[in-house]
Amino acid sequence: METRIGFGFDSHEFKPGVPLHIGGLALDHPEGLAGHSDGDVLLHAITDALLGAVAAGDIGNFFPPGDPRWKDADSAIFLKLAIEELEHAGFRLVNVDTTLILNAPKIGPIASEMRARVADLLGVDLSRVSIKAKTPEGLGLDHVAQCHAVALVERVPEPEELKSITAEIEAEPPLDDDVVEDLLSSVHGSPKKRVAPVYDTEDIT
Ligand code: MG
Repeated sequence: METRIGFGFDSHEFKPGVPLHIGGLALDHPEGLAGHSDGDVLLHAITDALLGAVAAGDIGNFFPPGDPRWKDADSAIFLKLAIEELEHAGFRLVNVDTTLILNAPKIGPIASEMRARVADLLGVDLSRVSIKAKTPEGLGLDHVAQCHAVALVERVPEPEELKSITAEIEAEPPLDDDVVEDLLSSVHGSPKKRVAPVYDTEDIT
C-alpha cells in the first residue's frame, strides 16, 4: 500500500474584538485570531498537511489572502477543498496529528469536542484525529497561536473489477505498426495521407 506524509504549519496573532475560531469551534474568549478568513489556525495547518501529502500546493494557492471571497470565510471550506484534492489524487486520510501552541484559552477542557468536530469535518473516525496543545514557553509568543500538523495518507485500493480490466488491457499484445498503417491506408487511400480533423468553431466558443 502506497502511503504519503504531509506537514502543515500556521500562525495567527490574537486581536481584540475578533471572534475566536479554533478546530471549527467558536470559542468564548476576549480575543480572536486575526486573519483574512476566520483565522482558524488548526484547520489551516491540517489543510496544508493534506495538500502537502499529495504535493498539491498550499492553502494560499487555492485561497489567496487578497481575494475578497475569502474575507471572514469559514475555514471548513478550505479543509473540504483539501479533502477533494486528496481524493482526486487517489488517496485517503489515515490519521492526522496536531500540536497547537498558544497561551490561552486552555485547550485541554475542550480538546474532546474539538477532536469530534475536526473528525466530522474530515469525515473520519475520532480515533484518527489527535489534537495536542502546549504553551509557548520561552518563545516570547504569548500573543500568537501556532499549529503544527502531520497527516498520513494512503492510496485508495483499486476495486477488484477495475483491477481485472486493467490486467486484461495490459496483457493485450501491442498493436503492430504495419497493421495500423494498412488499416489507415484502407480508410484514407494512402498510407501518408491524413485527414485533418474538422472542428465546428461555433461549438467550442
Ligand atoms: Mg492561516
